[in-house]
Amino acid sequence: MLIVFLGAPGAGKGTQAKTLAAEKNLTHLATGDLLRAEVAAGSELGLAAKAFMDRGDLVPDDVMIGMIQGRLESPRSDGILLDGFPRTVAQAQALDDALSAADTSVDRSIYFEVSEDELVRRLAGRSTCPDCQRAYHDTFNPPQNADKCDDCDEGLIRREDDKPEAVRNRLKVYETQTTPVLDHYRNAGKLVQVDGEQSIDAVQSDLAAAVG
Ligand code: AMP
Repeated sequence: MLIVFLGAPGAGKGTQAKTLAAEKNLTHLATGDLLRAEVAAGSELGLAAKAFMDRGDLVPDDVMIGMIQGRLESPRSDGILLDGFPRTVAQAQALDDALSAADTSVDRSIYFEVSEDELVRRLAGRSTCPDCQRAYHDTFNPPQNADKCDDCDEGLIRREDDKPEAVRNRLKVYETQTTPVLDHYRNAGKLVQVDGEQSIDAVQSDLAAAVG
């Protein structure tokens, strides 16, 4: 099974991906998390990607396509959940090509629909565990102990790209470069829309119905 999660930054993809991947035994491939791990490791790829990420711009397609291609092969699970990829039509096309070479294709693409006002509200209060990547929100989903991860007790961090100027740029980049990807999957009859403004539990049950 190959599932793609689409939606603006702050739409709730990461939160839902962790639950769905565990339930369905899917390998969760989150390109943002993979990139942040490269940055933390100080790798050449991480150094090259960091400036794009801090500004809220997309990392170039060839880097991203190279990063995902090798990971599509023989996952030790019942399939793959792609979270944060593809973000451009060129990435979507490259994904289709790589999958069709292996005689397979995307099963479903889930679009998390959330209004811009709500996205800004969510991104402004967001913090993340640098260890397990669990996401929190000051108001909607606070940790039990202030600024500490419930799972690993690690101090939570605020992402550089969750600062107001980068947030505005990420939403603009999403609008111009990623919304055309919705049409790519809509035209292929694979797009399922989920109302991402509902509670976490309600979104989860809509997802379960969409994925089957
Ligand atoms: P995310 O955690 O998914 O919001 O991703 C954080 C940042 O990583 C994005 O703002 C981009 O700079 C970069 N990134 C993640 N996935 C991609 C992708 N598929 N294409 C280009 N850049 C990406």
